[in-house]
Amino acid sequence: MRAVIARSGGILELAPSALRPLARSGAHLVPLGEGDLIPLPDEASVAHLPGRRAFAADAEGQPVNIDGGAMAVAAILPVGHLRCLLPASEPEPGAPRLPLYGYTAVAEHRGRLMAAAVATDAFAWWRPAEYRRADLPAAVAATRAALPGNRVVEQLAACALEHNCYTAQNTFHRRYEGALPASPACNADCLGCISMQPDPVPTPQPRMKYAPTAEELAELAGYHLAGGDARIVSFGQGCEGEPLTRDATLAEAVARIRARHPDATIHVNTNGSRPEALRRLIDAGCNSVRVSAISFTDPVFRAYYRPVDYGLEEVIACGEVMAEAGGQVCLNLLTFPGLTDVPEELERTAAAGRAMGVRQVQWRSLNVDHDWLVRVMPEQPPAIGMTRALHWMRRELPGVEHGNFTRPWPPASPIQFAGDAAAGITMGADA
Ligand code: SF4
Repeated sequence: MRAVIARSGGILELAPSALRPLARSGAHLVPLGEGDLIPLPDEASVAHLPGRRAFAADAEGQPVNIDGGAMAVAAILPVGHLRCLLPASEPEPGAPRLPLYGYTAVAEHRGRLMAAAVATDAFAWWRPAEYRRADLPAAVAATRAALPGNRVVEQLAACALEHNCYTAQNTFHRRYEGALPASPACNADCLGCISMQPDPVPTPQPRMKYAPTAEELAELAGYHLAGGDARIVSFGQGCEGEPLTRDATLAEAVARIRARHPDATIHVNTNGSRPEALRRLIDAGCNSVRVSAISFTDPVFRAYYRPVDYGLEEVIACGEVMAEAGGQVCLNLLTFPGLTDVPEELERTAAAGRAMGVRQVQWRSLNVDHDWLVRVMPEQPPAIGMTRALHWMRRELPGVEHGNFTRPWPPASPIQFAGDAAAGITMGADA
C-alpha cells in the first residue's frame, strides 16, 4: 500500500515506497490498513486539498510530513457510503477553509485507488446514475407551465439545474421523494450548515430568501405526488433553514396535502428544536420525521449547532412525539470519525435513539473542513473506528434499520419499483 499525494496543478502521485499511509481519526493520526479500505466507489471523486500538507509514517511508524510541496488527497464519496477515516492532512499557516465536502482518506493498493469507507445503503431510489438526466430541463419547464408563479418551483429549479440537488430533481420528475423547502430562517447556526456560511466559504445550496405560502407548498406537493413513482414529500431541505420555525404555514400545507393524498408519506427533516410545532404538523397529517444530530453530549451538541433557545431535551422529544403518534422516526446521525465512534458518544447516541423511538439511523458523513472542525470542537479521546461503531450500534439497537435514505411510511405500503426489484431491495430493509 502506498500513500497518495498531489503536486501543484492537482497531479496525483504515489508517495515514496518507504512511507506507509496514514489517516486521521479526529485529531489523532492512525495507520491506514488494508482492512480500512474499499475500492474507490463509482461516482466518487478525488480532490487535492490546497494548502494542506500530507503525512505518512516512516519505517519506525513515526509520522512524517511528505516533503517537496506534496498536498494531501481525499476522496469525496457518493451517496450511500460512509466515511470511516479522515485524510492525514495539516493546514499550512493561513490556509483558507475547504469547501463543504466529506473528505475521506485514500491510499493506493495493488494499482487501485482505495477509500476508507463502507457502503451503507443501496436503496434504488438514490442511485447516482438516476440523476442529471437529459430530460431534466424539460421536466422543469413542464412544472413551470403547470404551476405558473409558484416561487418554490423557481427555488427548486436552481437547486436541480445549478446545484445538482437530487431531491429537487425528483420533484420535477415526479418520482420518489420530492422537496418542499419552506423556511428562510433557522434557530441554530451550525458550523457545517450547507445553506449559510460566512464569506469566503462557499455554500453548496444557497438558502431560500422568502417564506412560501401553504398554497404554494401544497400545490407543488400535489403536482409531485401525481407522478406514478412519487411517494414522499419532505419539508426541511439543504437550501433552507429550519422548517419547524414555520409550523402554522406547514400545518396548513400538510392538512391540504393529506386531504388529497391519504397514502402519501409527509415527512419533515428537522434539527429537532420544536416538539410542540412537530405535534401540530402530526395533528395535521405529517407521519414521518428525520431528526439531525451530531452528538447527544451537551457541550459537543452546543459547540456544533450553536442553538437558540433549545437543547437536547427538545431534540429527543421530537422523536418521542412522532413515535407516540405511530409515525416514522429517523435519526440523521452527522458522523465524523474520531467523534461519532468515541465510546461515550456511542453510548449516548444509543440511549437517545431508544428514547426517541428511532426506526432507522441514517449514517451521513458530515461535509465540512475536517482540519478546521477538530480545532473548533471539544477535544475527544481515541475512538473505536467507524466500522466497529456501526456494528456496535446494530447490536445495541435491535430492530432498528441502518442506512442513508428515508423510506416511505408505513413500511407495509405495497410499493415496488422496477429498480428495487433489479437490486433485490425491499422497502424498509437496510442494505
Ligand atoms: S439546523 Fe440546518 S439550516 Fe439551521 S443552521 Fe443547522 S444545518 Fe443550517
